[in-house]
Formats: sequence, C-alpha cells, structure tokens
Amino acid sequence: MEVRVENVRKEFDRFPALHDVSLHIRSGELIALLGPSGSGKTTLLRLIAGLERPTSGKIFFGDEDASEKSVQERNIGFVFQHYALFRHMTALENVSFGLRVRPRSSRPPAGEIRRRAMELLDLVQLSGMQKRYPSQLSGGQRQRVALARALAIEPAVLLLDEPFGALDAQVRRDLRKWLREIHDRTGHTTVFVTHDQEEALELADRLCVMSQGRIEQVGTPDSVYDTPASPFVFGFIGESSELPVTAKNGDIWLGERPVGITDPQFDGPRSRLFFRPHDIELVESDASLAGVVASSRRVGGTRRVELDLDGAAHRVEIDLPLEHPAGERTRIAFRPKRWMLFPAGE
Ligand code: ATP
Repeated sequence: MEVRVENVRKEFDRFPALHDVSLHIRSGELIALLGPSGSGKTTLLRLIAGLERPTSGKIFFGDEDASEKSVQERNIGFVFQHYALFRHMTALENVSFGLRVRPRSSRPPAGEIRRRAMELLDLVQLSGMQKRYPSQLSGGQRQRVALARALAIEPAVLLLDEPFGALDAQVRRDLRKWLREIHDRTGHTTVFVTHDQEEALELADRLCVMSQGRIEQVGTPDSVYDTPASPFVFGFIGESSELPVTAKNGDIWLGERPVGITDPQFDGPRSRLFFRPHDIELVESDASLAGVVASSRRVGGTRRVELDLDGAAHRVEIDLPLEHPAGERTRIAFRPKRWMLFPAGE
C-alpha cells in the first residue's frame, strides 16, 4: 500500500511538533524515519497510524483519503519498543489475537487462524515455542512474537517504533538482519522509527531524516551519506568535521591558511566546510590544513586522530593508517579529498 503524507502540520497545545511535512512512501518499501530526540518521528508515525489527527494536511492510503479513518479501518500493524504482549496469553494466542477479535463476518475459521499463527511463528523462527508465555521468552523473542502478531492481520502498513530499542547490541544487530529478510519475503510497506543511524543505514530502502519537526532529506542510504542536503544531515549521518572557512576567488581559506581545495562555484566571506575522517589525504606541503595530534584511538582497521588546528581554535577528526607513527603533538598536514561547502547561516 502506498502512503502519501501531504502538507501535514501537527500542533500539541499550539506547540508545532510537525511543520508542513510531505512524504511519499512507496508500496512495499522499508523506510526509516531517523532523527534526534524530539524531531517528530513518533508523531509522524502516530499520524500515519491514525492514533493522532493532523492539525492540517492529509494522509492518503493509495487513492483514498485516510485522514478521518480509525486505526482499525486503516488496518495497521504495530510494533513498539514497549508495546507489551498480553501476559496471560501464550505466544500462539498473542499472534492469533488480531484475527480472533475480528467481527464474525471477516473472521477466518478457528483452524485457519491457528494455521496462520503457526506459520507466522515459524517465519519469526519461534516454532516450538507457541505454548510459552511472554515471561518465558527473552526480550528478542518477545519482539519477534510482537512482529508476528502485527503481521497476522495482513496489515496495509507495518509501523515499527524503535522495536529493538530496549535490546542489547548483539541481539539488535541479529534482529535487524532478520527483519530485513522478513520484509523481503513478505513485502509489507514498512515505516521504521529509529534514532540509531547505523540501524537505519543498514536496514532501510530509503531514509527520511528529520529535525525539529521538519524533513531535512529523503533518499537512499548511499545518497544521504554521500550527498547530504544540509549541514544538519552532514553532521547527523556518519562522522564528520566542520570548519568555518572563507572563499576567495574559488580558493578556500581557514583564517590566513589555504585549505588546499578550490570551489569556483563558491564565493563568500563565511562558509561552512564539512568532510568525513576517511575522506582526507596526507600532504607534505604547508599550503594546506595542518594541526597537532591531540589524541588518537583505534576504530576498526584505522587510527582515528583528533587534530588541533591553529592552536586549539578548531578540532577535527581524520583517519590514519594503523601503522602511521603519529604520536601526541606530532604535526600533520592534510587536505580533504571529498567535502561539501554550505553558506554560513544554513
Ligand atoms: P524520540 O526519539 O525522543 O521519541 P521523536 O522524534 O519521536 O523523539 P516526538 O515524540 O514525535 O519526537 O515529539 C516531537 C515533539 O512533540 C516533541 O517536542 C514532543 O515534546 C512533542 N510532543 C509529542 N507528543 C506530545 C503530546 N502528546 N503532547 C504535547 N507535546 C507532544
């Protein structure tokens, strides 16, 4: 099911949690809403679900205006971080619940409900555990039951709000891979809220990056990582450093020192330069950025070094090969290989 959010604004007691948000979610895609705390991710998810009404704007499911429809009418499947299972029901009863409470006219026969629930428990790799109560399952297993329960009603849209937020790192990583596999098999249109960028980059077909109640950028993980649309997105997705620079006749300067890069398109007294730690090259010349090592630590297969530039006026992070002999206070000259400039004030 395709979902279109059109010019939606949501206020709580006059406080705008979302400003004029528009988002087109394609049928069958897995899209992640990503952003810092308070950016409006959960509010947008609850509006899609029908748990909240927009102050203005509309939400379409396919060609139909769903804005005034209830959660049940929208046929939504949910998994929340703390959306507890029914404690007095077994895993099988939990998964069957959504079908068992349907009105008689649309309720499948009992045998069919059981067959479908068993199939879903198998899909989430919990066959054999159907008689267990939630208290007899691990956190990861409970979230898998919650997902099977959400899928049981054949939802038009599956909404997941930090479903793995309360689980430890390894279980989270396993469930993430597994969720992607399930999505590829079942093909439900899925909206996934997370503030964990690694999770979003790994899982989603597209990311929707949010900040302060607005959408900053929508795109594939690669496009958002490689061509961030704003300073906020550059700083929020992946590691990066920022320097306040000036552009004169296309040459970029940090104070009185040339950065070693040019951008003919850019001219201005004040600009913001962004680059990632691995997108640099070491240079011999002093006609480039240079600084002294303040600290260094190992990150996977490289050494991540913090460099102080201009005394300690600016600090940036760059990656060096593990075998690089840099010690504390070593002077290092470098230039960014890939970078982006934004006007100051953006
Ligand atoms: P988090 O990652 O912390 O869950 P979020 O991005 O999901 O954050 P929302 O929960 O959507 O953010 O909240 C967006 C803004 O709206 C916040 O400033 C929040 O305080 C406010 N807000 C959300 N729900 C309500 C409510 N029911 N009443 C009043 N303000 C609310």
